[in-house]
Amino acid sequence: MNRNIYMDYAATTFIKNEVLEEMMPYLKGFYGNPSSQYSIGFKSKMSIEFARDNISNAINCKSEEVFFTSGATEANNWAIKGFAHGNKERGNHIITTKIEHESLLSSCRYLEGNGFRVTYLSVDEEGLIDLEELKNSIEKDTIIVSIMFANNEIGTIQNIKEIGKICKGKGVVFHCDGVQAFGKVPIDVKELNIDMLSISSHKIYGPKGVGALYVKKGIKLHNLLHGGGQERSKRGGTENVASIVGFGKATEISFNNMKEDMERLTILRDEMIDNLLHIEGSFLNGGSGNNRLPNNINIAFPGINGEDLLFNLDRMGVCVSSGSACQATSMEPSHVLLALGLSKELAKASIRISIGDETTKEDMEYVCENIRNIVDRIRMVTE
Ligand SMILES: *Cc1c(COP(=O)(O)O)cnc(C)c1O
Repeated sequence: MNRNIYMDYAATTFIKNEVLEEMMPYLKGFYGNPSSQYSIGFKSKMSIEFARDNISNAINCKSEEVFFTSGATEANNWAIKGFAHGNKERGNHIITTKIEHESLLSSCRYLEGNGFRVTYLSVDEEGLIDLEELKNSIEKDTIIVSIMFANNEIGTIQNIKEIGKICKGKGVVFHCDGVQAFGKVPIDVKELNIDMLSISSHKIYGPKGVGALYVKKGIKLHNLLHGGGQERSKRGGTENVASIVGFGKATEISFNNMKEDMERLTILRDEMIDNLLHIEGSFLNGGSGNNRLPNNINIAFPGINGEDLLFNLDRMGVCVSSGSACQATSMEPSHVLLALGLSKELAKASIRISIGDETTKEDMEYVCENIRNIVDRIRMVTE
């Protein structure tokens, strides 16, 4: 029996057919440069602006506050470095958390080597920051707070509304890595007081290599990429037209179907968690109930090496992950799980399962049964 069950939607997703269809004309006939002064150029330009409208509508901002990038890695780099360099005279202190995506954390480490000071907030056992600690960490020379909306490994959703309020009250800019929440949780940047938001297309059934940064009007941001006049001279480089079109379409679809899709996934997720927690000794990592993304499951199986479990599941045609995809080859335990207080052993005994559009109840049961069998088998030989 050759099954193929993909349960790593937090790492990336397939491209939906409707999205691909929307992109195709721009990969074939309409190849005009958006900056050119003739009709196939205008056609490209218009399609980009249409996608920009889709995204601004989804997060409730103005169209001109959305800037396309090559993905969320670039958006995170740009937000934190561009802001730090653009606002040096106001202060050199940055606040973030220990559980951010590597693109944000390594940008912060780079800034630490270049005259900035960074506070890394700790999290509780569910992965939530302490709002009082955040408040107390904001100093006179703090210029920006960067906290992710939802974590990519453990699915924990922060109290973004309160964080936004605190930042606004203290007069510091709030950047949020919204990649995992975008399309799964409503995001209204005005209501939540988010000043900058990073998002990515390939986590919501769009193409890889495209994302965006929302930058609230009035925020001073240095360029990361200097070049031509594209993206209102804030991000040079000929636009990735077809991918931007796909990103716009994927955004529209995700937001139109969000409520029903997420209700379905939440039920599947909870059944799966319930099922896996019956395996002796296992426990859930990350947020509970409403504090958890509808599609995230992260479970520890004490005594098991997560890599062994992954390898055996792969042989059964099942794709899940240990930690985040970006660290999968490093063999280091996840910095996120360690931040929750897990030992190295327990962090390495954990796997992340992330479900999505094509996940069925039948898939879920097949995967649970296989995990149970593999865990039993590994425990038998190592006892
Ligand atoms: C995937 C991801 C990123 C990086 O996005 P890319 O578009 O792949 O560069 C950043 N932050 C989070 C939380 C992610 O899950």
